[in-house]
Amino acid sequence: MTRICNFSAGPSALPEDVLHEIKDELLDYAHTGMSIMEVSHRSSIYRDVIDETEASLRRLIGIPSSYRVLFLQGGASLQFAAIPLNLMRGKRAAYVLSGLFSDKAQREASRYGTVEIVGSSEDTAFDRIPDLGQIDQRISADGGFDYLYICQNNTVYGTMFDVLPTCRNTPLVADVSSCFLSAPHEIERYGLIFAGAQKNAGPAGTTIVIVREDLIETGPACADICPSYMDYRLQAHKGSMFNTPNTFGIYACGKVFSWIERTGGLEAMERRNRAKADLLYRALDESALFHGTADPGSRSITNVTFRTESSELDEAFIEFARLRGIEGLKGHRAIGGLRASLYNAIDLASVNTLVACLHEFEASKRSSMRS
Ligand SMILES: *Cc1c(COP(=O)(O)O)cnc(C)c1O
Repeated sequence: MTRICNFSAGPSALPEDVLHEIKDELLDYAHTGMSIMEVSHRSSIYRDVIDETEASLRRLIGIPSSYRVLFLQGGASLQFAAIPLNLMRGKRAAYVLSGLFSDKAQREASRYGTVEIVGSSEDTAFDRIPDLGQIDQRISADGGFDYLYICQNNTVYGTMFDVLPTCRNTPLVADVSSCFLSAPHEIERYGLIFAGAQKNAGPAGTTIVIVREDLIETGPACADICPSYMDYRLQAHKGSMFNTPNTFGIYACGKVFSWIERTGGLEAMERRNRAKADLLYRALDESALFHGTADPGSRSITNVTFRTESSELDEAFIEFARLRGIEGLKGHRAIGGLRASLYNAIDLASVNTLVACLHEFEASKRSSMRS
């Protein structure tokens, strides 16, 4: 068996140790004679799984007891609606437009109230994070927003907020789908964060929401139309079991959380991730053929977007890499180009393999130009 180097943006590579553990337990979970997929979600066996998964996540991030952790379904995209339905009490929220997913989120929110764009990098094709000073000023001058929404790491454009907006008394809501558990999270700075699991936390199908309890304790802002499933207070009260949860997905997330704990926690993870990103960005900066597309001050440490001078050459590189066991390098269909996603399960050796492949391709182009 050979496993490829998988730089896919999501669903993405999972740690091999985790896959082995799941395989070993698949037919007989903890001497129950059943797969974890066949166990009732109401059983004490499953109760232990979800409780330990939450406890592991709380230890990893250091989540204060004043925050609730929810394991939901519907992907990150369902949260684009759940957030305004639960939190838009004054029917007015501030959004930062920094790419594809914040645009989808603001469109969804504008169905339930007024959305004001308080920062945007649309005029430079989302190659950077909008100016934070301006956002902070807007928020502190106007106390009337229900929350300030950001997409912290822009998976498609390869940019990230390295520093968070200040936003004083306005709760900060962040889509952290593609940077969840890639580095420590200062939870107290947020009112709510959420992440689809399929980037860094586990298989597709589970969405993790971490929300400050006081924001949800009076129930959804749009109580008349909010589906029961999306009612954060109800889900918190039911322990994410308003209905049958994604039992297998939550179990697999728990395996990933334990793997991060065993391998040094989030600080160690961030060090490894920064080393991986530095290695790749350095190779791009030194290349005469490839160049990074994000503004250097806004570069994501997770999703590295780059391109050559033409889409034909980009395609040729994707094929060249594929023949060498490297997959997932195609840029998002909305913008084309190339992208390598360096999620937690990707090790430095894989990034070295990619860098060697970039060099080899560039050298082959140079020699074919000479001949
Ligand atoms: C992948 C992604 C999404 C979409 O997630 P779904 O689970 O497919 O809804 C949203 N936001 C960000 C930042 C993402 O990376």
